[in-house]
Amino acid sequence: MSSGYQGDLDQKASAHLELLEALGHAVPRSLDIQRSRRIYVNRNLKLEEIDLIGFDMDYTLALYNQRNLENLSIQCTLDKMVKKRGYPEEILKLDYDYTFGLRGVVVDRQEGNIFKMDRYGHVGRVYHGKKLLTREERHRLYRGSQRIKLSMPRYAWIDTLFALPEAVMYASIIEEVDTKQGPWNRGYSQLWQDIRECIDEAHRDETLKRVIKADVQKFIVRDPDLAPTLHKFRSSGKRLFLLTNSAWDYTEPVMEFLLDGALPAYPSWRSYFDIVVVSAQKPAFFTEKRPFLELELPSGQPKGPAHTGPFLKNRVYQGGNVVDFEQLAGAAGDRILYIGDHIYGDMLRAKKSSVWRTAMILQELEEELVQAERHKDQILKLETLERQCNRLDSEITYQQQMLKSLQKLETKPAHEDGDGDPLVHAHTTVESAKREAKRRLDELRATLRASADEIEQIEKELDRAFNPYWGEIFREGVENSRFGEQVEDYACVYTSRVSNFLAYSPLRYFRSPRDHMPHELV
Ligand code: IMP
Ligand code: MG
Repeated sequence: MSSGYQGDLDQKASAHLELLEALGHAVPRSLDIQRSRRIYVNRNLKLEEIDLIGFDMDYTLALYNQRNLENLSIQCTLDKMVKKRGYPEEILKLDYDYTFGLRGVVVDRQEGNIFKMDRYGHVGRVYHGKKLLTREERHRLYRGSQRIKLSMPRYAWIDTLFALPEAVMYASIIEEVDTKQGPWNRGYSQLWQDIRECIDEAHRDETLKRVIKADVQKFIVRDPDLAPTLHKFRSSGKRLFLLTNSAWDYTEPVMEFLLDGALPAYPSWRSYFDIVVVSAQKPAFFTEKRPFLELELPSGQPKGPAHTGPFLKNRVYQGGNVVDFEQLAGAAGDRILYIGDHIYGDMLRAKKSSVWRTAMILQELEEELVQAERHKDQILKLETLERQCNRLDSEITYQQQMLKSLQKLETKPAHEDGDGDPLVHAHTTVESAKREAKRRLDELRATLRASADEIEQIEKELDRAFNPYWGEIFREGVENSRFGEQVEDYACVYTSRVSNFLAYSPLRYFRSPRDHMPHELV
């Protein structure tokens, strides 16, 4: 086929796609989209049946420059710990390795440890400070009779990207606490509480936000595809809303930075949204019955009694609750899709307290998938080796049983006299069968050992590629991590950023892959 002819075909195909796209019907195959930008499906979701799409702001519409924000959070928190809690200035100079933070790790404030769990609550790797505990130490602490419940005050779950610096600071300061004495050394649990309270205060008292607002582009990433994505949704007849926990005085500059001036048809960021709700207080928004208050603009002060009529465009509301929201927005719960990043406040609570559909934004997924793509040969090799180990295990068990049966035969007494006695012959045959079984067992065990060593080696290399301390975010050992399981349970679909929707039709039927139980896998 001549390249001219091929070029013609490509042009026709692209014109055809453009037409479909203009009609909102282009359905690119997911496989044409690079892995790190795809939308992944846990539960079927027909976008055609969604009328209203809601967006969280922080870490959803607004992706943060994680390194810069972490540095700032650490700086603001430590500053408060020194000035207000009497910690020594040395803590300002410790090494805070930001790679130590990972969503889904758990702080054990009683022992001063941080660990990662699998979906069954089994504790995988554990760090005390940044020192990895041995298998024995881990078993002694976490293999007891008591099941780990994350709701216990002893544990704190690092479940948002805002919280990663808390784990980083805790691990680094623990190393100091263990080696130094002083009035500020009040134990592991108090240290956790001090870090938590100081970072909480930094979020609430403007310490952090004043710096971010003064230099938004240092901390927040402006995604050029965000405005076209929102426009595409609107063009297909969807209404959009913003529902954020941030207050008006922070929401406004951040949203301005993200969307103002992006598309000529939209005079300001507010023109993209039919409803704007700030200071929503999720998860309470989903579980309690706070009123909506309309805000006076530009001051951002509440205007008076609770707002009870339908939501009006170009107004800004504060607070509220899910029940009133559906009524004032005039939308049925299962026709609302909410896109957020917080597994608890945005996903779990929305799922448990309403019938809203959910999409989760996982900023880390992009890098995770780049690494998975880069190391796909090793990942395949790992799977092959694991299957091989399973087969070897069952063959070893078979040979062991065989050997046992032969040994039982051997214990029966043989006749002492004589050549030609059939029992003597039988004895010789049993002996040689035993030798063969032993030889085979040794061979199998050696292959198993070699495969296990190779698995360990590949696992180490993969861990280093993903996160040097924790490995993959969604896995722990051969299981899904606890965090991975939560994403599976509470997010209907998940992806690395909102603008990934741009490559899909707004009428797309996102189908979940057929789920298999182990017995169904051939
Ligand atoms: P959203 O993700 O848009 O709903 O908003 C998240 C808001 O929660 C941001 O304004 C954050 O500053 C704030 N936030 C995050 N972590 C904390 C905390 O530990 N204490 C108080 N506010 C927080
Ligand atoms: Mg958020």
